[in-house]
Amino acid sequence: MSSQKRDYYEVLGVSRTADDAELKKAYRRMAMEFHPDRRPGDKEAEDKFKEAAEAYAVLSDAEKRSLYDRFGHQGPAQSGFSGGFGGIEDIFSAFADIFGGGGGFPGGGGGRRVPRGDDIETELTVAFLDAARGTKREIEIDRHSACETCKGSGAKPGTQPQRCRTCQGRGQVAHQQGFFVISTTCPQCRGAGSQISEKCGSCKGAGQVAKRATVSVTVPAGIDDGQRLRLSGQGDASSQQGGEAGDLYVLIRVQADPRFVRDGDDLWTDVPLTFAEAALGTRIEVPTPEGSEHIEVAPGTQPLSKQVLSGRGMPNVRGRGRGNLIVRFVVLVPKELSSEARELIEKLGPHLYSPRSAASTEVPDDEAPEDHHESDKGSVFDRLFRKKKK
Ligand SMILES: [Zn+2]
Ligand SMILES: [Zn+2]
Repeated sequence: MSSQKRDYYEVLGVSRTADDAELKKAYRRMAMEFHPDRRPGDKEAEDKFKEAAEAYAVLSDAEKRSLYDRFGHQGPAQSGFSGGFGGIEDIFSAFADIFGGGGGFPGGGGGRRVPRGDDIETELTVAFLDAARGTKREIEIDRHSACETCKGSGAKPGTQPQRCRTCQGRGQVAHQQGFFVISTTCPQCRGAGSQISEKCGSCKGAGQVAKRATVSVTVPAGIDDGQRLRLSGQGDASSQQGGEAGDLYVLIRVQADPRFVRDGDDLWTDVPLTFAEAALGTRIEVPTPEGSEHIEVAPGTQPLSKQVLSGRGMPNVRGRGRGNLIVRFVVLVPKELSSEARELIEKLGPHLYSPRSAASTEVPDDEAPEDHHESDKGSVFDRLFRKKKK
């Protein structure tokens, strides 16, 4: 561009008293005349196109126009106007009402837009403990890969795809409708911008072939059922040479482990105790994601009371620490008794505390066994699940 800026009114060819409608009309005329899609590669036309956009940007804004009228080209800078546009695309987006919205000519900024390959989704099932510890898997997927014979061009080796004459390689063609310019995918080359005269024998000109591929998937520790991993660039190859491949999404299915129920990063596990163990206290082994651990059960442990093993639950999948392992004690009441056991319990019975025989029949809520009468209606896990889902 020339170092000396021309007067904005002169650029648009309007008088200093021109109103908004006149300015808009003048600018539209100039924009169409010097449109880069009309004159591809014409540097002078492009400069004129930019110059007109700058003039219109100032004069169509009342504040900038009055600053310009008073102080010349330095004026609009005071209101934050940087002066001019960086690129053609900026002009399209600034004056979408003039160019028909959406940025106008996709090809106008130079270079066609190459479509990305499709994303692929697949599933991977892992065992509960693998999800807890993290694992690495090789999976097989079917995807479109660039043809090795023609390197994705679709042209017979030794030949080159020819630039499409209909769209001049832009992949888009512009139609003028009244004052609006609408651009659509080129019907001749279907957006590729080029055409193949002699097709590659391996891919029949498609540039890509369906292929089975082995992909290595790192499953992070703590992943939950239903979470998806994104493997960038591992999806289908672009249908056009030089295009980015799509992504591969791996939906993780975590198999249930009958010993654990997951709640966020916390794990619950139920541990059965006999009445004697609950009453007298004991030392037991409980399952953890690492294997097992011994814990002390206090004398007088109540049915369904809990012991929290801090930081022994599921690792957080984003690396933020670990959840807790919550051990719940299930006190088993025998359904069948040997005659010896029956005798002993009969002897024991009168020595046990019963709220019904005590002076006060009040039992504090938190001491009352929550729902032990329901214990025949399914496992504690079932109830936990039902509770979570409600
Ligand atoms: Zn090929
Ligand atoms: Zn074309």
